[in-house]
Amino acid sequence: MELGNTEGTPRELFTCELCELTTPFTYYGQKPPNTRAIVLLEECYVMKDPFSPEKERFLVLGSTCSLCHKAVCVSAVCSSSFV
Ligand SMILES: [Zn+2]
Repeated sequence: MELGNTEGTPRELFTCELCELTTPFTYYGQKPPNTRAIVLLEECYVMKDPFSPEKERFLVLGSTCSLCHKAVCVSAVCSSSFV
């Protein structure tokens, strides 16, 4: 209420099914809100970048593996295990 900005407030949690990393995310899909030109190649879990004053900055937390349909984080460890 103090900031008058509830947009982007994390409501749900993304959990990596491989390393069990759990983190809140604000959007799941290919076109994050408050971005004009960004369309992700696949549906991803994203969170508004809390460290950037720019509205359009966001962090990709993870995505659903197209092969096994597990939710996995974007860390190199997990991603490479599917290659
Ligand atoms: Zn992971």
